[in-house]
Amino acid sequence: MAIKNNLERIKASLPANITLVAVSKTKPISDLMEAYQSGQRVFGENKIQEMTEKWETMPKDIEWHMIGHVQTNKVKFMAEYVSLIHGVDSFKLLQEINKQALKHQRIINCLLQIHIAEEETKFGLDASELNILLTSEAFKDLKNIRIIGLMGMATFTENESQIKKEFLHLKAIFETLKPQPTTYNLQPSTLSMGMSGDYQLAIACGSTMVRIGSSIFGGRI
Ligand SMILES: *Cc1c(COP(=O)(O)O)cnc(C)c1O
Repeated sequence: MAIKNNLERIKASLPANITLVAVSKTKPISDLMEAYQSGQRVFGENKIQEMTEKWETMPKDIEWHMIGHVQTNKVKFMAEYVSLIHGVDSFKLLQEINKQALKHQRIINCLLQIHIAEEETKFGLDASELNILLTSEAFKDLKNIRIIGLMGMATFTENESQIKKEFLHLKAIFETLKPQPTTYNLQPSTLSMGMSGDYQLAIACGSTMVRIGSSIFGGRI
């Protein structure tokens, strides 16, 4: 019951145009099923193997989002079914996603991860790397991926003004993306930012997709 109540409370607090990704990493299928039975259809995982096991077992109308860092050699395990890959941070990874998507005759939606935090450990591109990637001829040749927006993670800090600054920075970069009529693989509509601790602030800063785990499923060990 706790999961259902948490979900209902969070959904009631979200504006209608915000997509809620229920981050279910490390949680058992029974917990995910409670969320599913409460109407949740979008789940986020950060390990490809764990996500694939859950995909195999659970109802097939679920959208599976990969929110973790992706190793190139593991893309093939999720290419058949993944709905959105949030953490794409290199051209090499994008090429591999394109190749695996082609094998399954699909187009895989991706977000490019932008480095906005102060910590060195968080993955992502900066604004100039993003620009180089999106304007390259090689990018235009990738016909089995579609970049639908950006994703970022703020610094892990109590300092709200720091987090706000980072979210606004990401929003500003997002605003520079313009769908190019000739490059249909860039169709920016989605800004994935905000987690349990900061999603209200992220929405105020322009987020369209929040990734919430512990506030729905409880803490992780
Ligand atoms: C775990 C995780 C989340 C969810 O974090 P909570 O604080 O539990 O809401 C969101 N985004 C990413 C990339 C994560 O790895």
